[in-house]
Amino acid sequence: MRRNQNRRKLEQMLSESVKVALEGISALAALGLAAGGCAYAAMAPRSQIFGDTLVAPQGRGQIALTFDDGPNPAWTPQLLDLLAKHRAHATFFLVGKHAMEEPYLTRYIAEAGHVIGNHSWSHPNLALASPRKVRDELKQTKQTLEHITGAPVRFFRPPYGARRPDVLAAARDLGMIPVLWNAMTNDWAERSGEKIGHKLSERIDLLGRRGWAANVVLHDGAPERLGVDREPSIQAARILLERYIGVRRFVTVDAWV
Ligand SMILES: [Zn+2]
Repeated sequence: MRRNQNRRKLEQMLSESVKVALEGISALAALGLAAGGCAYAAMAPRSQIFGDTLVAPQGRGQIALTFDDGPNPAWTPQLLDLLAKHRAHATFFLVGKHAMEEPYLTRYIAEAGHVIGNHSWSHPNLALASPRKVRDELKQTKQTLEHITGAPVRFFRPPYGARRPDVLAAARDLGMIPVLWNAMTNDWAERSGEKIGHKLSERIDLLGRRGWAANVVLHDGAPERLGVDREPSIQAARILLERYIGVRRFVTVDAWV
């Protein structure tokens, strides 16, 4: 009963964007780590309690579109065409094992001028992984991406936004800046691209009224396998590009360091 109450409290504390990670919080509870503050620090995208992370700077004019869980041969090429059409650049947080299977697509993302970041090798909840596993996940991905693209990987986004101080420290030791987000909806589960685009537009406008740039997450792939249908997410990207191009500036996250 008490555990249910704690869980409800946690759900209120967490933004909607990290509800996907609640299974991780249950696991944290199982490990006896579930003091509310601890879970908040580990999972909430804007919490800085476990160390500095890059979210977005003040200034209403900028939007960073970021795409997680690719590369995905089913949808990433169409996304790249869309971005090229609008002459916009984005940041792609790639899953290492997917990049290894799709080296040409990975290289093409980089050659098109987008920023590639590290999203771990196999997309585990790193807040629950051993320190050695954390380091292996980050290092193997960084080396693979750098081998494929020939360029240093400077950014890391933890799967589910889950982190501990040593996860962030491991990223920094490997020369990467941890990046979270401030605009996300459940695009991986929602089938209407229009709904996703509408929700994100509302969020971007709200952030803008409060004087903040937007760090938007969409998913062009999925952690478990290649080839997943991400049409609604790509449609949402199209909606955002059409709505904000010429009104806001689309940047990659390296513009913010
Ligand atoms: Zn992810």
